[in-house]
Amino acid sequence: MRRFLFAIPVNVYRQICILLATLLAVTLVIAQDASDSVAPEFSSGTTKQQLVHGKNSMVSSANPYASRAGSDILKRGGNAVDAMVTIQLVLGLVEPQSSGIGGGAFLVYFDAKNKRLTTFDGRETAPLAATPEMFLDDNGQPASFFDVVVGGRSVGTPGTIKLLFDIHKRYGQLPWEDLLKPAIQLAREGFEVTNRLNALITYAAESLYQYPETRDYFLSEEGVPLFPGTVLKNTAYANTLEMISEGGADAFYGGRIAEAIVHRVQNSEGTPGRLTLEDLSRYEIVERPPVCLAYRGYDVCGMGPPSSGALTVGQILGLIEHHNIGEWGPRSPKSWLAIGDASRLAYADRGRYMADSDFVDMPKGLLNKDYLTERSKLLSGESALPSGSVQPGNPPFDHAHLWADDKSTELPSTSHFSIVDSGGNVVSMTTTIENGFGSRLMVGGFLLNNELTDFSFVPEVDEKLVANRIEPGKRPRSSMAPTIVMKDGNPVLTVGSPGGSRIIGYVAKTLIAWIDWDMNIQQAIELPHLINRFGEYDLEKGTAAESFEEPLERLGYVTNIRDLNSGLHGIEINPDGLQGGADPRREGLVIGQ
Ligand code: GLU
Repeated sequence: MRRFLFAIPVNVYRQICILLATLLAVTLVIAQDASDSVAPEFSSGTTKQQLVHGKNSMVSSANPYASRAGSDILKRGGNAVDAMVTIQLVLGLVEPQSSGIGGGAFLVYFDAKNKRLTTFDGRETAPLAATPEMFLDDNGQPASFFDVVVGGRSVGTPGTIKLLFDIHKRYGQLPWEDLLKPAIQLAREGFEVTNRLNALITYAAESLYQYPETRDYFLSEEGVPLFPGTVLKNTAYANTLEMISEGGADAFYGGRIAEAIVHRVQNSEGTPGRLTLEDLSRYEIVERPPVCLAYRGYDVCGMGPPSSGALTVGQILGLIEHHNIGEWGPRSPKSWLAIGDASRLAYADRGRYMADSDFVDMPKGLLNKDYLTERSKLLSGESALPSGSVQPGNPPFDHAHLWADDKSTELPSTSHFSIVDSGGNVVSMTTTIENGFGSRLMVGGFLLNNELTDFSFVPEVDEKLVANRIEPGKRPRSSMAPTIVMKDGNPVLTVGSPGGSRIIGYVAKTLIAWIDWDMNIQQAIELPHLINRFGEYDLEKGTAAESFEEPLERLGYVTNIRDLNSGLHGIEINPDGLQGGADPRREGLVIGQ
């Protein structure tokens, strides 16, 4: 590397460049946000996104390259599962910070031919050599979150390729190789770096700079992030996909790609990880029954454990069902009092009980109507619940078990896409490498996840075990909530979002807006966010949600005005066609045909 430029030491030069790039990125993002801002009308914002109509099929994803590629597959006679493969592989290229083949995903799928709703778990697993104490420091205290995120220690066995391959084998229509071609071609020809990608690289520049492959791909030699508009090629990714095109999932879970992953993880400077070839070769997708809650004439269905998504969304809805939210509407603080406290109670149960149910006994009754009805009595007051009374409940258990509350942290990245094909098949998929840019380790043109930081760093509290503690082969608890809403056995809505543990709040709000407040999917997505997880009420900055600061404080909440970066992508299925929405907070695109 050049040591000096204009006689300035390279590290100082790098800092200056990062500062300038940060200023540019912030300016671009502010400019973009200003034009995107949600109008002060609370029920329907006017933004660059419009409700999109389609007759036969539709895709909604977080990136135009991905939506176009998926839509082309549908045009060529592919089905929703075929389009899913292509969209995911293109997202891994153009939105590398959010999801990809180095990560994991959950799929909620409606198979139209058999009129069957099912779910597939492609979540990462902890290495067989993992131990419950591996994220504690030498003093037995939890290590700092980012010290664990960055490097090999946080990498779980990736599930995404196996999910795509197995589900395609079972339901796909077009040949596997054809579905990989769009991503391979785009990786070779290059794609344009967006403002968002530039801003995110800038934000993570320091950590990306640590590893040669990541540094060379995202930064210049001096550490300057890729500028917006740069045409970025990824030959290594194209080569990886070509191997997977020929060899299928086996080419990823064994052979050269697997060896490269394991080598990178085990040799990560400072924080080597414990992933082995055996972890990769043993990886399996798990089909699981959907978790559904009957809500106001609909069945709201989604992903069960190891995700807490459907259970926690379901609890929020089940708790507010006894309130007249529909009549009160989105402008009434009463609605947000009920939603806010219902969310706090649901998150309390989530923290105590929810984890990978293949490893820990979970109460069977978390969505039990009697349990939720009884618990909803806590919501009958005129002001916010005092924090002391927001405790986990006692849902019906099969076996007696007392878990300690969980302390795991989640920070946002991730992507959600929805697809409906002309045969009526529906894909609702949320996909992630966990933190933005995952572990920052890159191999074969893709980033490796840091999903293991979704486990509790602390395995036990006061001699009680934490349900979501790390164990060999276990899947870390997720908040991802890919959802399909059913009516009389048919799908009527698909939606989901990124956003760490706020995913649950984003999805619940969108469902309430669509079901109780009769908004279309675009309006429901755009409706400003008011999210309460653990007591503090987050109000979306720059939107009409800010006007709830005073009324909610009067009700006893502490409020916090902040950016709330969801990425909701959804499709409504009506008797006369499809309507799709994309989140104006991201760069998504809906295409209907
Ligand atoms: N890893 C998180 C989860 O599985 C998602 C991360 C995010 O959305 O930012 O819940």
